[in-house]
Amino acid sequence: MMKSGEDMASDRIVGRIISVSGPLVTADNMRDASIQDVCQVGPEGLIGEIVKIEGEIASVQVYEETAGLAYGDPLVTLGEPLSVELGPGLMSTMFDGIQRPLKSLLAATGSDFLTRGVSVTALDREKRWSFTPLLTVGQEVSGGDVLGTVSETSRILHKIMLPHGLKGTITQISPGSFTVEETICEIEDERHQLHKISMMQKWPVRKSRPITEKITPRLPMITGQRVIDTFFPVMKGGTATVPGPFGAGKTVVQHQIAKWSNVDIVVYVGCGERGNEMTDAVTEFQQLVDPKTGLSLMERTILVANTSNMPVAAREASIYTGISIAEYYRDMGYDVAVMADSTSRWAEALREISGRLEEMPGDEGYPAYLGSRLSSYYERAGRVIAIGRPNGREGSVTAISAVSPQGGDLSEPVTQNTLRVVKVFWGLDATLARQRHFPSINWMNSYSLYGESADLYYSQFVEEGIDEVIHQGMTLLQEEGRLMEIVKLVGFDSISDIDKLKLEFAKSLREDYLQQNAYHSVDSFTSLPKQFKMLRLIMEFYDRSTELIANRGYNFEDYYEKTRRVRERVAQVKFIPEDRPEELDNCTQEIDRLMAELSPVTREE
Ligand code: ADP
Ligand code: MG
Repeated sequence: MMKSGEDMASDRIVGRIISVSGPLVTADNMRDASIQDVCQVGPEGLIGEIVKIEGEIASVQVYEETAGLAYGDPLVTLGEPLSVELGPGLMSTMFDGIQRPLKSLLAATGSDFLTRGVSVTALDREKRWSFTPLLTVGQEVSGGDVLGTVSETSRILHKIMLPHGLKGTITQISPGSFTVEETICEIEDERHQLHKISMMQKWPVRKSRPITEKITPRLPMITGQRVIDTFFPVMKGGTATVPGPFGAGKTVVQHQIAKWSNVDIVVYVGCGERGNEMTDAVTEFQQLVDPKTGLSLMERTILVANTSNMPVAAREASIYTGISIAEYYRDMGYDVAVMADSTSRWAEALREISGRLEEMPGDEGYPAYLGSRLSSYYERAGRVIAIGRPNGREGSVTAISAVSPQGGDLSEPVTQNTLRVVKVFWGLDATLARQRHFPSINWMNSYSLYGESADLYYSQFVEEGIDEVIHQGMTLLQEEGRLMEIVKLVGFDSISDIDKLKLEFAKSLREDYLQQNAYHSVDSFTSLPKQFKMLRLIMEFYDRSTELIANRGYNFEDYYEKTRRVRERVAQVKFIPEDRPEELDNCTQEIDRLMAELSPVTREE
């Protein structure tokens, strides 16, 4: 993120601080500076970014604690925008909002996390990486081409790409062990100028990385969370939001997705939430082992932490730091999920800076550009064809964010502006959370605009005809809502036996299917095949029960008594381990047997 002394532009501008207000500093003598330039502020060289220039005066948002800055202190522009360092060493690391590595968040006591100022670099300068070239001397290359690879962690092969904007012929490239600053390759451009290429590149965080083209997301991102995958799926390259009041389960949903989803890489941005949650995340991700590879989840995870006790302006930057890193791995051809918890805290940082800049406030004091900032963030998600060779590298960034509206009021600006752009809405519900129905995703108002394409995919590649069953399940859940209204008026005893059965099976769907305990070793994750087996089991049981009552003369009470044991079995199905599918089949057979036993009864004839 920072510049070393040598490469600092000679055209840097030195201003003088004239005021300090929280994270905002103004300085004069800044006429020739540019908006978005990074500055070093004060004697310690705190990092800041110019957000406004008026005549001689520049306003700078400072990403570090500004206490101690004084009138007349110097401020130096670096002549470059706020950027991230991209290269081997990102993986498994925890950074702060402006990409300084946090080695000791675990030990942090809530005081300063870092020494202030420019003393740390994002990527380790000492560490050596073994580089394997894919290209040879004499080959033509241009920006985005993969020059070679580095084994970054035991599960991530880092592809070293030629930075965008460069083009030429390779004059030197060889395997070996290099630091991120050393030259791994030299190219000569058409004007016979030599360029030394290292494994590290920089990217300005507020700009999206270029791509060849965006393509329609077509693969569902499997999260192992039944309510999500079955009823409100998100696609790889899609966008989703999870709004909900305090304690409704936003963080748990995001953690579950970070742990279980079938993406290659997770970038987790903890934005303005409690520090101990990030600590928990790190500990959990380290301990959790991916069953497929036997490796720790941190091997595929990058954390960006700007917790509630860290400087507010860096919170504003943190989501851009996160998504820029996500785009970089996408360009290598990976599926990346970027989680932000919570964008409400990000928006509050935006509001605070805007207030101090005395900008015209919009809705609830948020700046008028809140909506456009949010949409430009989510626009960086997508499934893409990356630039460069090997051609046709396909990668995706899936953006999933929590929103924490005050009191759960979804009409507030952050939620509304988010809903305008994202395609999936998992609405968390305080009432469900109070009833310990988790995840508290309300099936009555949540939606996924990817539902149809996911169903097609499921039906084609996972289980034929499952789209029908999913549809019937959702219909039953919706009918329950309507029936409950009637029950409130006339009482349970007055509705028909068929309706009673509907209520009974809607309850089974809610309790035995939708509810999923994140802390249970088996229930925490359910594979798609198991999800669909479970759903089929419940829905077929329902169909056959309807048959008993409609055509075989059972009344509801009678039926209810006789099926008690089987219903208890169904409730336990979610706890059957993935590697014992025969137990699930046993349960199906038990239902079959019972139904066969009950069927001959024909009281009405
Ligand atoms: P939020 O981030 O919305 O404030 P959290 O995600 O921290 O809420 O969840 C609050 C609590 O709800 C958790 O500590 C946990 O006890 C419970 N909870 C949420 N989701 C689940 C789940 N899927 N399974 C079990 N408990 C859950
Ligand atoms: Mg939370």
